[in-house]
Amino acid sequence: MSLSNGRAYLAIPGPSVMPDAVLQAMHRASPNIYEGELHDLTDSLVPDLKSIAMTDANVAIYIGNGHAAWEAALANVLSRGDTVLVLATGRFCIGWGEMAAGLGLKVETIDHGDRAPIDLGRVADVLGADQEGRIKAVLAVHVDTSTSVKNDIAGLRDVLDSAGHSALLMADCIASLGCDRFEMDAWGVDVMVSGCQKGLMTPAGVSFVWFNERANAARGNCVTTYWDWRPRVNPEVYFMYFDGTAPTHHLYGLRAALDMIKAEGLDAVFTRHEKLAQIIWTAVDQWASDGPMQLNIADPAHRSHAVTSIGIGSPNGNALRHWCEHQCGLTLGIGLGRDPADAFFRIGHMGHVNAHMIMGVLGTIDAGLKALNIPHGSGALEAAAQALAHRA
Ligand SMILES: *Cc1c(COP(=O)(O)O)cnc(C)c1O
Repeated sequence: MSLSNGRAYLAIPGPSVMPDAVLQAMHRASPNIYEGELHDLTDSLVPDLKSIAMTDANVAIYIGNGHAAWEAALANVLSRGDTVLVLATGRFCIGWGEMAAGLGLKVETIDHGDRAPIDLGRVADVLGADQEGRIKAVLAVHVDTSTSVKNDIAGLRDVLDSAGHSALLMADCIASLGCDRFEMDAWGVDVMVSGCQKGLMTPAGVSFVWFNERANAARGNCVTTYWDWRPRVNPEVYFMYFDGTAPTHHLYGLRAALDMIKAEGLDAVFTRHEKLAQIIWTAVDQWASDGPMQLNIADPAHRSHAVTSIGIGSPNGNALRHWCEHQCGLTLGIGLGRDPADAFFRIGHMGHVNAHMIMGVLGTIDAGLKALNIPHGSGALEAAAQALAHRA
């Protein structure tokens, strides 16, 4: 007996929930790619992609997932043999570093483990010791989706400036863009990467690299024709946007998603994510008052508003995920990159998510804990309802 039939809910940290408006915008015949509406629509995306990143910098669009944007960002600015400093706070920055190594770059890593944000003091020590300027780029993830930590990117700019270090500051905002506040120009970020399937609520397959003039000038020898960002940002002819056929239907979907963000207002989008995250934390703290459950990141200032990683003790994570999916139609995120992975699960709360959806997620988890006899503190749903009542 299962109660899972009905509308399924994928509450994982990407791909996120697709709004009906996005799906409907994509449901159409193939458009003319030579002229007309598709060209105007693509042009219209550029200023909105800049404003969502709070930047006047360039933005290049790639047909590919977030990994494509990772590679594009590295390849355009670095040369083989250059050193990059990877500030690891979970699986994702380590993955970006592995990609750098694959391109023939030297990778130095400061590993902060799975439960802590970037330690700016440690970064200052490493940059201060690099008198000869060996390090060409600093790679940081704004929100590491595996640990749900949020890093202080503006603080990294201060560290670079205080050290008088000229390395480029490169940020991965694949999980955070359109969820957690990010201000590319004000925070002094040189290169930023993101994808369309998380806060931007569009099916996976398009990604972006924003870069300022400093990054554009730092041209290395890694880049090949396809990944070169220069023709993509000021295309003389339409096909140069994508170096080939446009991702036609994705562009319609993305247009609809950006319209939704515009209509709500970016500040309101950030506030909604913040309040929903606080409701989740309230419930988890209550569950954590008795038994093995625990928010992965202790300091609320360093918790993402887009994803929450929760420790639950092995093998409870997998058991809970399976119960929620097969009994209730709710899919939760795996303990990605964790050891053991089944001691964790994650809730994705990015993009097209509102309060009743979050209350449904929390209620389903609460029932799963009871069904599976996983020890937990009581009163989580009552506390979440109180938090919602007082924050809405
Ligand atoms: C999802 C994600 C990625 C990888 O994106 P793909 O589209 O799966 O390639 C990289 N970094 C972060 C922080 C992410 O959340």
